[in-house]
Amino acid sequence: MTALSLIVPVYNERESLPELLERLYRAMADKQLHVLFQESFSFEIIIVDDGSIDGSDKLVREMISTKQELRLISFQRNFGKTAALSAGFKAASGRYVCTIDADLQDDPFAIKELIKKLEEGYDLVSGWKQQRQDPLGKTLPSMVFNTVTRLFTGIPIHDFNCGLKVYRSEVVRRIELHGEMHRYIPVLAHWNGFAIAELPVVHQSRKYGQSKFGAGRFFAGLFDFLAVVFITRYFRRPMHFFGMMGLISFLSGFIISLYVTLDKILYAKPVSNRPILFLGILLIILGAQLFSTGLLGEMLSTSSSGSGNDYTIRDTVNFQSEV
Ligand code: UDP
Ligand code: MG
Repeated sequence: MTALSLIVPVYNERESLPELLERLYRAMADKQLHVLFQESFSFEIIIVDDGSIDGSDKLVREMISTKQELRLISFQRNFGKTAALSAGFKAASGRYVCTIDADLQDDPFAIKELIKKLEEGYDLVSGWKQQRQDPLGKTLPSMVFNTVTRLFTGIPIHDFNCGLKVYRSEVVRRIELHGEMHRYIPVLAHWNGFAIAELPVVHQSRKYGQSKFGAGRFFAGLFDFLAVVFITRYFRRPMHFFGMMGLISFLSGFIISLYVTLDKILYAKPVSNRPILFLGILLIILGAQLFSTGLLGEMLSTSSSGSGNDYTIRDTVNFQSEV
């Protein structure tokens, strides 16, 4: 069995790749790492090419001819980092799995430290970027999100979205990633009952190319947050969410209508010319709608058994078994 699977999502990182591979191989040759795995240490590097158009894919194919640990999953088009990680997770054969960004911002020599921490009894250890080397337009939104996520979920980590993480294989087999959820992997893992820790890691600035995520991720992040809250808390019981919203809406509408009605009966106040009545009726209708949406969700979630992948694989190279 492979001891460690490294998963690298790649989208237009051709310039970084040679140095990345060189660093990864150097980190994997580290004696201290081998000591951690008492049995013979072995590793694989799974590059998931997420539809690069700069020739990253071709370069990896060339490199595979001289590097037997290197494997490639090539996507049909750009599906996003979440999909790339998800495909890597499914293909990984290692007892431990490590994700690392391709842009040389993460230090591969930190992997052994993360593994040491994992062996203290955790299932997922996430890097915590120190002196993050990114522009304010990125760091500020993620500061807000990290704080909100930490407070809301009660998971005591500071950097949910660090690209550098190590996992026990049980974790990657268990969690399902959809949409843009890679930012919430610790939340999903925590929700599935896994123990999570974080460890400070050094962060370098991007050497080549540009970040693929702009400040626009702020809003994307907000929706992801709502989606994750919804999925982790209500996915199996949509009625509990929509039903509650529907009930609150319906009851407020009912109380408003009752008030208008009593006013008419007891004090002979005319029902016409009362704007609040519109609100009452609106809320009652909204309540009924939300309630039935919840019911539909309930029926859907019990009748469909999960779904397929969110990506299309063009081909794979250097895998022993089928991916
Ligand atoms: N990435 C990817 N698909 C995408 C965007 C990014 O596989 O659609 C990869 C990218 O090549 C890099 C990692 O995800 O290895 C992190 O991307 P980036 O450095 O742009 O994100 P940031 O560090 O700015 O959050
Ligand atoms: Mg980066």
